[in-house]
Amino acid sequence: MTKITKQQIDVLQKIMELELESLVDETQQEMDPQLKASINEINGGAADVDDEAVADTIVDVDNAIIGMHLQKARDLNTALDRIQTGTYGICIDCGDDISFERLTAYPTAKRCIICQSRREKTRANRPASTI
Ligand SMILES: [Zn+2]
Repeated sequence: MTKITKQQIDVLQKIMELELESLVDETQQEMDPQLKASINEINGGAADVDDEAVADTIVDVDNAIIGMHLQKARDLNTALDRIQTGTYGICIDCGDDISFERLTAYPTAKRCIICQSRREKTRANRPASTI
């Protein structure tokens, strides 16, 4: 499989950065004022609280939609980190290159299509009783 090029990574990086941006905006709009106030409190109370700690706190709050968005935001952040460290586009299971087609469809994909489908098959075939 052909390794994705720097230009292709640049394109995907732009897509993910934009997605992350709109995700943050959306999440802030969805947050109810009470939650927002408590986050402001967290921010005001301790200046050294980093974004991740705040995110953890929000995840703790029982809000499925925001939780889902934050999970997505983390996936995007992880993928962007992987671009920085040069491991983006490499399957975490087999170390093969993930195809550009797959990354275009799922920019945050961590596995190649073969490992992903193997993983899904293994999961689907496992009888419920053995879990
Ligand atoms: Zn793989």
